[in-house]
Amino acid sequence: DKTFHEVDSALERLKSEKRLKGVEDRRVASEVFDKRTLEVLYKLSNTGYLAILDGVISTGKEANVFKGLDDNDNFVAVKIYRIATSDFRKMQYYIQGDPRFKVKMSNKRQIVHTWVNKEFRNLKRAYENGVRVPKPFVSRENILIMEFIGDIEGNPAPTLREAPPLYPEEMFNKIIYYMRLLYREARLVHGDLSAFNILNFDEEPVIIDISQAVVVDHPIAGELLERDIRNISRDFKRFGVSSTPQEIREKIID
Ligand code: ADP
Repeated sequence: DKTFHEVDSALERLKSEKRLKGVEDRRVASEVFDKRTLEVLYKLSNTGYLAILDGVISTGKEANVFKGLDDNDNFVAVKIYRIATSDFRKMQYYIQGDPRFKVKMSNKRQIVHTWVNKEFRNLKRAYENGVRVPKPFVSRENILIMEFIGDIEGNPAPTLREAPPLYPEEMFNKIIYYMRLLYREARLVHGDLSAFNILNFDEEPVIIDISQAVVVDHPIAGELLERDIRNISRDFKRFGVSSTPQEIREKIID
């Protein structure tokens, strides 16, 4: 059987060609790589965007983020959603009412695929409108490959939560500028913005985890924007920048 053979060699390639290092990595790998996911990884390895996986960046409830290398030995970030542990209710809640997605969502796998496609399109839309997010390369089924945010040695950038800004005021202004671009140009609201989902990349903010973002005329967009504004106001208060939600809102919308 050709498919099985391909999966088999994908597994060989991904595992042996290098280095899913360490015990924890192996545990994660076996959890993540069900047969279907392996097939998709194999297909993606034919796009040039992924030659090998090279370790784990993050293990979340719903998705794991791996570090990979593309055909030219550049690092990429590979986000793989686990079908079994995904929160379908949440996903459906954010997908419904978004005019971009008219798919019938009868099964869980399909909901996750739509969710990943949504994350890809949100990233693309943000990126093309000048918002600093990881550049999306390709997505297929439950896997998304994007620009790796980190140094040339392959260390991922920390979140703002882990690495508070050296110049909080400047960081704050850059984030507000991106929130404004996201709202006014990309016409999206992030919906889960906070110091947890902004990377501090050499004092440049990079906004991540944009899967739940909705278009501005989505029924819940207003509520999500208010939450993002409150989170940023609160987090930057801790960094020593005080501003009211009202002030932030004006800078974003007006
Ligand atoms: P989750 O939905 O599981 O929280 P995220 O997209 O927030 O997934 O990513 C989880 C973590 O992985 C982030 O906090 C960050 O540390 C890391 N990460 C995500 N995307 C990238 C990227 N493009 N480059 C480097 N690190 C990343």
